Amino acid sequence: MRQKIVAGNWKMNKNTEETEDLLNELIDKLPNDKDVEIIVAPTFVNLSSAVNHLEFTNIQVAAQNMHQAESGAFTGEISADMLKSIGVNTVILGHSERRAIFHETDAIISFKVDAALKHDLRVIFCFGEELKDRQNKQHFNIVENQLRDGLFQIDKSAWENIVLAYEPVWAIGTGETASPEQAQEMHEFIRETVRKAFGSDIAEDVSILYGGSVKPENAKEIFGKPDVDGGLIGGAALKADDFAAIVNAI
Ligand code: PGA
Repeated sequence: MRQKIVAGNWKMNKNTEETEDLLNELIDKLPNDKDVEIIVAPTFVNLSSAVNHLEFTNIQVAAQNMHQAESGAFTGEISADMLKSIGVNTVILGHSERRAIFHETDAIISFKVDAALKHDLRVIFCFGEELKDRQNKQHFNIVENQLRDGLFQIDKSAWENIVLAYEPVWAIGTGETASPEQAQEMHEFIRETVRKAFGSDIAEDVSILYGGSVKPENAKEIFGKPDVDGGLIGGAALKADDFAAIVNAI
Protein backbone atom coordinates (compact mmCIF):
# COMPACT_ATOMS: atom_id res chain seq x y z
CA MET A 1 0.00 0.00 0.00
CA ARG A 2 1.37 3.37 -0.87
CA GLN A 3 1.61 6.11 1.71
CA LYS A 4 -0.46 9.30 1.60
CA ILE A 5 1.76 12.32 2.20
CA VAL A 6 1.23 16.05 2.56
CA ALA A 7 4.44 18.09 2.63
CA GLY A 8 4.82 21.83 3.17
CA ASN A 9 7.65 23.57 1.35
CA TRP A 10 8.23 26.81 3.25
CA LYS A 11 10.78 28.12 0.72
CA MET A 12 12.69 31.23 1.90
CA ASN A 13 10.06 32.24 4.45
CA LYS A 14 9.87 32.56 8.24
CA ASN A 15 12.69 33.64 10.56
CA THR A 16 13.43 31.67 13.72
CA GLU A 17 10.69 33.20 15.83
CA GLU A 18 8.12 32.90 13.05
CA THR A 19 9.16 29.31 12.44
CA GLU A 20 8.56 28.47 16.08
CA ASP A 21 5.18 30.21 16.02
CA LEU A 22 4.04 28.34 12.91
CA LEU A 23 5.25 25.01 14.28
CA ASN A 24 3.31 25.59 17.49
CA GLU A 25 0.19 26.41 15.53
CA LEU A 26 0.64 23.32 13.38
CA ILE A 27 1.06 21.11 16.44
CA ASP A 28 -2.27 22.49 17.69
CA LYS A 29 -4.18 22.31 14.45
CA LEU A 30 -2.92 19.32 12.45
CA PRO A 31 -4.85 16.09 12.89
CA ASN A 32 -2.95 13.20 14.45
CA ASP A 33 -5.47 10.48 13.81
CA LYS A 34 -5.29 10.35 10.03
CA ASP A 35 -3.40 7.84 7.94
CA VAL A 36 -1.26 10.49 6.28
CA GLU A 37 2.36 11.41 6.69
CA ILE A 38 2.87 15.13 7.36
CA ILE A 39 6.15 16.83 6.48
CA VAL A 40 7.34 20.43 6.82
CA ALA A 41 10.42 21.91 5.17
CA PRO A 42 11.61 25.10 6.89
CA THR A 43 14.84 26.87 5.87
CA PHE A 44 18.27 25.39 6.68
CA VAL A 45 18.74 27.91 9.49
CA ASN A 46 15.71 26.58 11.34
CA LEU A 47 15.95 22.88 10.55
CA SER A 48 17.70 21.78 13.69
CA SER A 49 15.32 23.61 16.01
CA ALA A 50 12.36 22.30 14.01
CA VAL A 51 13.56 18.71 14.44
CA ASN A 52 13.82 19.24 18.20
CA HIS A 53 10.52 21.08 18.40
CA LEU A 54 8.63 18.32 16.57
CA GLU A 55 10.36 15.37 18.22
CA PHE A 56 7.27 14.00 19.97
CA THR A 57 4.78 14.86 17.24
CA ASN A 58 3.63 13.13 14.05
CA ILE A 59 5.20 15.88 11.91
CA GLN A 60 8.42 15.10 10.01
CA VAL A 61 11.04 17.61 8.91
CA ALA A 62 12.59 17.85 5.44
CA ALA A 63 15.33 20.01 3.95
CA GLN A 64 14.58 22.00 0.79
CA ASN A 65 17.89 21.23 -0.94
CA MET A 66 21.43 19.94 -0.36
CA HIS A 67 24.74 19.76 -2.21
CA GLN A 68 25.90 16.56 -3.89
CA ALA A 69 29.50 16.61 -2.60
CA GLU A 70 30.51 14.87 0.62
CA SER A 71 32.31 17.92 2.01
CA GLY A 72 34.93 20.46 1.01
CA ALA A 73 35.35 23.81 -0.68
CA PHE A 74 31.73 24.57 -1.57
CA THR A 75 31.11 27.89 0.14
CA GLY A 76 27.54 28.30 1.29
CA GLU A 77 26.47 24.70 0.73
CA ILE A 78 25.08 21.95 2.98
CA SER A 79 25.83 18.21 2.66
CA ALA A 80 23.69 15.11 3.14
CA ASP A 81 25.78 14.09 6.13
CA MET A 82 25.11 17.45 7.81
CA LEU A 83 21.38 16.99 7.38
CA LYS A 84 21.52 13.49 8.80
CA SER A 85 23.61 14.69 11.73
CA ILE A 86 20.80 17.01 12.92
CA GLY A 87 18.12 14.36 12.53
CA VAL A 88 16.72 15.32 9.12
CA ASN A 89 15.76 12.23 7.13
CA THR A 90 14.11 13.70 4.05
CA VAL A 91 15.24 16.17 1.39
CA ILE A 92 13.37 17.89 -1.44
CA LEU A 93 15.41 17.77 -4.67
CA GLY A 94 14.84 19.13 -8.15
CA HIS A 95 12.31 21.80 -7.22
CA SER A 96 11.51 23.96 -10.24
CA GLU A 97 12.89 27.04 -8.46
CA ARG A 98 16.22 25.22 -8.01
CA ARG A 99 16.12 24.27 -11.68
CA ALA A 100 15.13 27.69 -13.03
CA ILE A 101 16.77 30.19 -10.65
CA PHE A 102 19.82 28.19 -9.55
CA HIS A 103 20.44 26.44 -12.89
CA GLU A 104 20.23 22.89 -11.58
CA THR A 105 20.25 20.52 -14.52
CA ASP A 106 18.92 16.97 -14.60
CA ALA A 107 22.55 15.79 -14.30
CA ILE A 108 23.19 17.85 -11.16
CA ILE A 109 19.92 16.66 -9.67
CA SER A 110 20.84 13.04 -10.40
CA PHE A 111 24.12 13.51 -8.46
CA LYS A 112 22.18 15.00 -5.57
CA VAL A 113 19.74 12.08 -5.60
CA ASP A 114 22.64 9.61 -5.48
CA ALA A 115 24.32 11.49 -2.62
CA ALA A 116 21.09 11.66 -0.63
CA LEU A 117 20.35 7.95 -1.07
CA LYS A 118 23.91 7.05 -0.13
CA HIS A 119 23.29 8.75 3.20
CA ASP A 120 19.92 7.06 3.58
CA LEU A 121 17.96 10.26 3.13
CA ARG A 122 14.54 9.93 1.62
CA VAL A 123 14.16 12.07 -1.52
CA ILE A 124 11.09 14.04 -2.56
CA PHE A 125 11.95 14.27 -6.26
CA CYS A 126 10.28 17.25 -7.97
CA PHE A 127 9.73 17.64 -11.67
CA GLY A 128 7.18 19.08 -14.08
CA GLU A 129 6.79 20.87 -17.36
CA GLU A 130 6.68 24.59 -18.12
CA LEU A 131 3.70 26.30 -19.74
CA LYS A 132 5.35 26.38 -23.18
CA ASP A 133 5.93 22.61 -22.99
CA ARG A 134 2.26 22.00 -22.38
CA GLN A 135 1.26 24.44 -25.12
CA ASN A 136 3.58 22.58 -27.51
CA LYS A 137 2.16 19.26 -26.32
CA GLN A 138 5.60 18.24 -25.07
CA HIS A 139 4.61 17.82 -21.42
CA PHE A 140 4.71 14.03 -21.39
CA ASN A 141 8.12 13.98 -23.09
CA ILE A 142 9.56 16.58 -20.74
CA VAL A 143 8.34 14.75 -17.65
CA GLU A 144 9.63 11.41 -18.91
CA ASN A 145 13.05 12.92 -19.65
CA GLN A 146 13.24 14.57 -16.24
CA LEU A 147 12.56 11.21 -14.62
CA ARG A 148 15.01 9.32 -16.83
CA ASP A 149 17.82 11.85 -16.61
CA GLY A 150 17.46 12.87 -12.97
CA LEU A 151 16.21 9.78 -11.18
CA PHE A 152 16.19 6.52 -13.10
CA GLN A 153 19.89 5.89 -12.53
CA ILE A 154 19.01 4.60 -9.04
CA ASP A 155 18.89 0.93 -8.04
CA LYS A 156 15.59 -0.84 -7.76
CA SER A 157 16.15 -1.21 -4.03
CA ALA A 158 16.41 2.58 -3.58
CA TRP A 159 12.78 3.21 -4.51
CA GLU A 160 11.61 2.75 -0.94
CA ASN A 161 13.35 6.09 -0.29
CA ILE A 162 11.74 7.94 -3.18
CA VAL A 163 8.63 10.11 -3.21
CA LEU A 164 7.68 11.72 -6.53
CA ALA A 165 6.26 15.24 -6.70
CA TYR A 166 4.77 16.31 -10.00
CA GLU A 167 4.67 20.10 -10.08
CA PRO A 168 3.71 21.75 -13.37
CA VAL A 169 5.77 24.96 -13.32
CA TRP A 170 2.88 27.02 -14.65
CA ALA A 171 0.86 26.14 -11.55
CA ILE A 172 3.47 26.99 -8.90
CA GLY A 173 2.70 30.13 -6.94
CA THR A 174 0.49 31.37 -9.76
CA GLY A 175 -2.93 30.56 -8.35
CA GLU A 176 -3.43 28.46 -11.47
CA THR A 177 -3.94 24.79 -10.60
CA ALA A 178 -3.87 21.82 -12.89
CA SER A 179 -7.40 20.48 -13.07
CA PRO A 180 -7.90 17.25 -11.15
CA GLU A 181 -8.19 15.54 -14.55
CA GLN A 182 -4.92 17.01 -15.80
CA ALA A 183 -3.20 15.93 -12.57
CA GLN A 184 -4.63 12.41 -12.79
CA GLU A 185 -3.68 12.08 -16.47
CA MET A 186 -0.07 13.01 -15.74
CA HIS A 187 0.18 10.95 -12.54
CA GLU A 188 -1.07 7.91 -14.42
CA PHE A 189 1.56 8.53 -17.09
CA ILE A 190 4.27 8.89 -14.43
CA ARG A 191 3.28 5.64 -12.75
CA GLU A 192 3.29 3.91 -16.13
CA THR A 193 6.75 5.32 -16.88
CA VAL A 194 8.03 3.96 -13.56
CA ARG A 195 6.33 0.63 -14.30
CA LYS A 196 8.07 0.27 -17.67
CA ALA A 197 11.48 1.00 -16.18
CA PHE A 198 11.28 -0.69 -12.76
CA GLY A 199 8.23 -2.96 -12.72
CA SER A 200 4.74 -3.00 -11.29
CA ASP A 201 5.55 -3.44 -7.60
CA ILE A 202 7.61 -0.27 -7.49
CA ALA A 203 5.14 1.67 -9.63
CA GLU A 204 2.24 0.69 -7.39
CA ASP A 205 4.08 1.47 -4.16
CA VAL A 206 5.59 4.85 -4.98
CA SER A 207 3.71 7.88 -3.69
CA ILE A 208 3.16 10.56 -6.34
CA LEU A 209 2.35 13.99 -4.89
CA TYR A 210 0.84 16.87 -6.82
CA GLY A 211 2.15 20.40 -6.29
CA GLY A 212 1.09 23.77 -7.67
CA SER A 213 -1.38 26.15 -6.00
CA VAL A 214 -3.02 23.47 -3.85
CA LYS A 215 -5.43 25.22 -1.49
CA PRO A 216 -8.12 24.13 0.98
CA GLU A 217 -10.70 24.80 -1.76
CA ASN A 218 -9.23 22.46 -4.39
CA ALA A 219 -7.36 19.87 -2.32
CA LYS A 220 -10.18 17.38 -1.89
CA GLU A 221 -10.90 17.07 -5.58
CA ILE A 222 -7.22 16.72 -6.53
CA PHE A 223 -6.49 14.21 -3.75
CA GLY A 224 -9.58 12.26 -4.76
CA LYS A 225 -7.92 11.10 -7.97
CA PRO A 226 -6.65 7.51 -7.86
CA ASP A 227 -3.01 8.23 -8.79
CA VAL A 228 -2.63 11.34 -6.62
CA ASP A 229 -1.21 10.31 -3.25
CA GLY A 230 -1.00 13.71 -1.61
CA GLY A 231 0.52 17.11 -2.18
CA LEU A 232 3.58 19.31 -1.99
CA ILE A 233 2.28 22.63 -0.75
CA GLY A 234 3.99 26.03 -1.02
CA GLY A 235 2.05 29.19 -0.21
CA ALA A 236 -0.78 27.48 1.67
CA ALA A 237 1.74 25.66 3.91
CA LEU A 238 2.62 28.99 5.54
CA LYS A 239 -0.80 29.29 7.16
CA ALA A 240 -1.59 26.69 9.79
CA ASP A 241 -5.34 26.74 9.14
CA ASP A 242 -4.90 26.25 5.40
CA PHE A 243 -2.28 23.53 5.78
CA ALA A 244 -4.43 21.69 8.31
CA ALA A 245 -7.45 21.92 5.99
CA ILE A 246 -5.36 20.49 3.14
CA VAL A 247 -4.15 17.62 5.33
CA ASN A 248 -7.74 16.97 6.36
CA ALA A 249 -8.77 16.85 2.70
CA ILE A 250 -6.84 13.59 2.23
P1 PGA B 1 2.56 26.66 -4.37
O1 PGA B 1 4.03 26.01 -4.41
O2 PGA B 1 1.70 25.73 -3.57
O3 PGA B 1 2.76 28.00 -3.70
O4 PGA B 1 2.12 26.78 -5.78
C1 PGA B 1 4.21 24.64 -4.57
C2 PGA B 1 5.69 24.32 -4.56
O5 PGA B 1 6.48 25.14 -5.06
O6 PGA B 1 6.12 23.27 -4.07
